Amino acid sequence: CGIVGVLGSHEVAPLILESLKRLEYRGYDSAGIATVNAGVLDRRRAVGKLVNLSDLLVHDSLAGKAGIGHTRWATHGEPNVGNAHPHRSGPVSVVHNGIIENFRILREELAAAGLAHETDTDTETVALLTRHLLDQGMTPQEAVGATLKRLEGAFALAFLFEGHDDLMIGARKGSPLAVGHGTGEMYLGSDAIALAPMTDLVTYLEEGDWVVLTRAGATFYDMAGNRVNRSVTRIQLEQ
Ligand code: GLU
Repeated sequence: CGIVGVLGSHEVAPLILESLKRLEYRGYDSAGIATVNAGVLDRRRAVGKLVNLSDLLVHDSLAGKAGIGHTRWATHGEPNVGNAHPHRSGPVSVVHNGIIENFRILREELAAAGLAHETDTDTETVALLTRHLLDQGMTPQEAVGATLKRLEGAFALAFLFEGHDDLMIGARKGSPLAVGHGTGEMYLGSDAIALAPMTDLVTYLEEGDWVVLTRAGATFYDMAGNRVNRSVTRIQLEQ
């Protein structure tokens, strides 16, 4: 029910946990974080309160300066560790708020192509579809653009990719998502409150927008894949 993403200059797991706490008010049943560290994707997930995730991270730390985090309010698949986000298929990791309405059809299509689901969620279908497109030779950006064209429903999404320490992609349709601008760092968050400890410079994605982030900045696209300009606003929030 909440999304945070950080392309940072320090270890991101503690930052992401802090931001997820700011989204607790939305309610959730489980939480997780994925990072890419020296090209390698890894993740930690826990059912229940965020303290369970932070306890897990104390015993089994998660290194990396790029990461995505999620608090889940289950809609498809019971709240257990396997169904918790981030989801992963091969080189793709994704977090999602909302519902992918046509996931059953996509699921069958992917199964026919030899890609089987390991979870009961609608979200895993997004990871599999993007992976399938990467397997066909697309770049991460092309694969996400093509994935988004296939998705029906309401979603905010954030993607990370194995082998890419300086890349994060976000998308918004029916569920809010904001980009935060730092100094040599970039962020994604379900709302500006989540980003407040890191920055007050925010761009809100418009309906159907998606964004490709590197530490150098953000490039915005509309649903048709055309480059668009979106303005930065300075938000006033109590820390
Ligand atoms: N539909 C997804 C799931 O059940 C995402 C739910 C959410 O918004 O947290 O896993």
